[in-house]
Amino acid sequence: MTDLIHLTDVEKSYVRGKERIAIFDKLSLRFEQGDFVAVMGPSGSGKTTLLNLLGGTDRPDKGAIEFEGQRIDKLSEGQLTAWRAANVGFIFQFYNLMPILTAAQNVELPLLLTRLSPARRRENVATALKVVGLEDRVRHRPREMSGGQQQRVAIARAIVADPKLLLCDEPTGDLDRATADEILSMLQVLNRDLGKTIVMVTHDAEAAKYAKRLLHLDKGRFDERELAA
Ligand code: ADP
Ligand code: MG
Repeated sequence: MTDLIHLTDVEKSYVRGKERIAIFDKLSLRFEQGDFVAVMGPSGSGKTTLLNLLGGTDRPDKGAIEFEGQRIDKLSEGQLTAWRAANVGFIFQFYNLMPILTAAQNVELPLLLTRLSPARRRENVATALKVVGLEDRVRHRPREMSGGQQQRVAIARAIVADPKLLLCDEPTGDLDRATADEILSMLQVLNRDLGKTIVMVTHDAEAAKYAKRLLHLDKGRFDERELAA
């Protein structure tokens, strides 16, 4: 398989007051096209920071991040925003939907950054909501839906621009087991049938089983772990 993302000698630290917190030092890591990777590790180990670097919502202090051979760490803010809109979908633990917007309007949001016509936008929104099985909740607002339904709206929003990469930060952390399994099965279908490359942070060993690979992060180092059967 070919690499989708390649991190080389990435360094990242945060400065708070007089304190400097090193997260990654000379980190090199690759993610293949079509992979589904679970990332586990203690709280504060840098899992969210990794997703932010991969998705271009944060930048490394040093080192290179390549996406399909393109240095995304070298892009200007405007170029990075456009790159992100075309290539990356984010899915969060608490869905991050806009409460005053309907399901369809939430899903349409990322498309407002593109040049698609309103008709094409409506078409893509309808397709995305269909993929997640919410055709009958188009006009519902977040508070009128269950947690699982809200997460499905968030998944529809993440895939509406047909990005290659999905970054999921504890996507089932707020859901019961049965609903979590529904959401994870949906991510598996997006990976298997639509070829989405997925990097999913999770605390849940059961959730990790849906992935193809498991990486464990601790003290700035990643190591590959066997996925439990
Ligand atoms: P995880 O997702 O594994 O719990 P994070 O990536 O969120 O960990 O955070 C890693 C470390 O970096 C933590 O110690 C956190 O406090 C610190 N950190 C994260 N973001 C910032 C920030 N914007 N400013 C300062 N420190 C941060
Ligand atoms: Mg986190």
